[in-house]
Amino acid sequence: MLASELQDLAQEIWNINGNASSVHQSGQKARRLLNESREIFAQSLNCAEKNLVLTSCATESINTILKSVFLPLDAKKNHLIVSAVEHSALLETAKNLQEQGAELSILSVDAKGNLDLAELGSLIKNETALIAVMYANNETGKIFPIQQVGDLAREAGVPLLCDAVQVLGKYPIDLKKLPVDFLVASAHKFHGPKGVGLLYFAPEQKLNPLLLGGRQERGYRAGTENIHGIYLAAKALELALKNLPDYEQHIRSMRDYLYQGLAEKIPELQLTIDLDSSLYNTLHLRRPGISGESLLMSLDMAGIEISVGSACDSGSLEPSHVLMAMGLNEQEAMEGLRFSLSRYNTMAEIKKSIEVVARVVGGLKK
Ligand code: PLP
Repeated sequence: MLASELQDLAQEIWNINGNASSVHQSGQKARRLLNESREIFAQSLNCAEKNLVLTSCATESINTILKSVFLPLDAKKNHLIVSAVEHSALLETAKNLQEQGAELSILSVDAKGNLDLAELGSLIKNETALIAVMYANNETGKIFPIQQVGDLAREAGVPLLCDAVQVLGKYPIDLKKLPVDFLVASAHKFHGPKGVGLLYFAPEQKLNPLLLGGRQERGYRAGTENIHGIYLAAKALELALKNLPDYEQHIRSMRDYLYQGLAEKIPELQLTIDLDSSLYNTLHLRRPGISGESLLMSLDMAGIEISVGSACDSGSLEPSHVLMAMGLNEQEAMEGLRFSLSRYNTMAEIKKSIEVVARVVGGLKK
């Protein structure tokens, strides 16, 4: 949801209706919003403004980067390594490149969701043009050691693409320190509006546009800029980072309480990822024998909205590729339950949720 603190601002800027590429006054007002937004994003990430491209979503950012690196295919640099648990935006684009002739290697994870850095080292070869490892997984909440992955990639001279969609706005990201060459994020994950994505590329990397046309985004991304969305996204990120420690403490304590409460009431529950190595807003569980989908629907009717798998893949009734990669069988991989908390949740809601989930699980068991 859009940060409630920004709703007045949203009304205010709605009247700024110029096109940021127009030279008249309305256009210049729009341009100022865009410039201020880019400044906020660059400061928040500690990178140069010229290394940021504003897009429509993380999927577009990912497609832009992968197609820029690999197309047209070069037989000497056609190898891509991706972790098995990447978001479908990345996996599907990688598979598409594979169909066009790129070589794809999948980096596995173990039963706890950990990557094997030695395996990553052994997959790298002269032809490797890119490694893609996400900062944290959108289903399980597992946080990956991006610093170490980046160090390894740098040592091998291979660029690293990091999908930070689940991390930006929840943890600080300093691009002067983090050894990544490309990074993507999406505004709706930090209470910005839907439809705004970020793409960072390091100064030494080349980027070819996916969308061709006008000179917007310095030619890296043609198309009239979504100035309202972009500005609110920048303000949402500013707000999230300004109050980050407070938000983290509030959300983490609710998430831990939720887990304790559920574990006491439903002893069969299995925790997928240790809380210490998971995003502080995420709790991923399984209740063996009960499908996530049926629990989701019963909880929805009781007013509690949870997820199974990725929101982008829901409705597909396919077992989660993330849980399968962790070694679960098809049935187990349909049992995932993801509770995502935000700063707008309250402890009262968490207490109520514990009662309701226990009751609903009890009902489904029968
Ligand atoms: N990567 C991750 C980890 C995500 O969670 C998501 C969406 O939730 C995406 C990529 C795709 O983002 P978008 O919907 O902005 O394209």
